[in-house]
Amino acid sequence: MSYQIETDCVQAGYSPRSGEPRVIPIIQSTTFKYDTGEDMGKLFDLEAEGYFYSRLQNPTCDYVAAKIAALEGGSAAMLTGSGQAANFLAAFNICSCGDHIVSSSQIYGGTYNLFAVTMKRMGIDVTFVAPDCTDEELEDAFRENTKMVFGETISNPSLCVLDIERFAAAAHRHGVPLIVDNTFATPINCRPIEWGADIVTHSTTKYMDGHAATLGGVIVDSGKFDWDAHADKFPGLTTPDESYHGVVYTKKFGLEKAFITKATAQLMRDFGSVQAPVNAYMLNLGLESLHVRMPRHCANAQAAAEMLEKHPNVSWVNYCGLESNKYYALAKKYMPNGSCGVISFGVKGGKEGASRFMSRLKLAAIVTHVADARTCVLHPATTTHRQMSDAELVAAGVGPDLIRLSVGIENVEDILADLRQALEG
Ligand SMILES: *Cc1c(COP(=O)(O)O)cnc(C)c1O
Repeated sequence: MSYQIETDCVQAGYSPRSGEPRVIPIIQSTTFKYDTGEDMGKLFDLEAEGYFYSRLQNPTCDYVAAKIAALEGGSAAMLTGSGQAANFLAAFNICSCGDHIVSSSQIYGGTYNLFAVTMKRMGIDVTFVAPDCTDEELEDAFRENTKMVFGETISNPSLCVLDIERFAAAAHRHGVPLIVDNTFATPINCRPIEWGADIVTHSTTKYMDGHAATLGGVIVDSGKFDWDAHADKFPGLTTPDESYHGVVYTKKFGLEKAFITKATAQLMRDFGSVQAPVNAYMLNLGLESLHVRMPRHCANAQAAAEMLEKHPNVSWVNYCGLESNKYYALAKKYMPNGSCGVISFGVKGGKEGASRFMSRLKLAAIVTHVADARTCVLHPATTTHRQMSDAELVAAGVGPDLIRLSVGIENVEDILADLRQALEG
């Protein structure tokens, strides 16, 4: 039986049998016991399904991964220790030395660095394209050795909306998958797989956990990309893996499970960036209310964005829920029920004006975080980007006056009052 997404937030992924714990149990054990060495040997050969060591798989993590797969409409999922690990492993599962990635230029700074610096050192090249580039520019970015296209549903921190259908069509014309980081929208507001994305990633650290309690990430596979139809591009999935006695992932596990089984059996085995079972347990508590929290984040952010847009001490507001926004139409198409709770805006008076505004806030806290229950703000010019000059800040798209506001789920009037008194003080 299949349920609506609200029911899946609460119940998917774990169905206890008679007498078993009602709540997902924390299986805090590194290892699992078997009656015979033969039984365990089958697990090592990927001949049987089961648990033997929590670096590869753990039941608590698997319950939570299965829930997120259901939320995104995917066929399989794997939890990771952080969002960074999710994006790295998703990419590295199909790219190796000599390969090439096409990525939106508007992505999280950590992912930009991962692609442009760290993966480059591994011999994997990237070409960045603006999310609103022309069709020709997008087409020109592809090479013979391109293995994937990457973008964020709503980019952090620039808040651009990706035209998922357009990027998916371009990827598929070149026989490669589209990977979408859906952290800011969450499956409550957008399900990229329904628009043609093949693989979805998250920093579960943000709205999915929602309480700023646990770092985590997840990779969800749609199970729809036909690796065998482009077998020459993806030998890791379509030719024998000698470390498992010649298993061919697409043959043995089918399109629905091949990508995640390879990511687990090879990459988790070798990189070990697992999510701890206790963290997965806490992530699940967040997931149980995701569908209740997201509409509140969006409603509060919409009210804050509308108030800021009219305020005389604010020079500009960037929020795709505003009709004046460049991405309003795309946001309405992909996220008709709301986008996210993150807004950026400029305070009059440049770096000093922004700095004075920040120090006057009482409810909104100054933290390096976004997308949790508590309203928070960050002024990149005096924190994360403080080594840059004003000119460099403008070039990087984070002007000296830019404030990033992550609107929480407190009472909306309290949030607005705090912003107003800090702007007017
Ligand atoms: C935070 C973030 C990441 C990185 O996630 P961590 O959990 O901090 O490693 C990746 N992508 C997006 C869109 C993010 O907001």
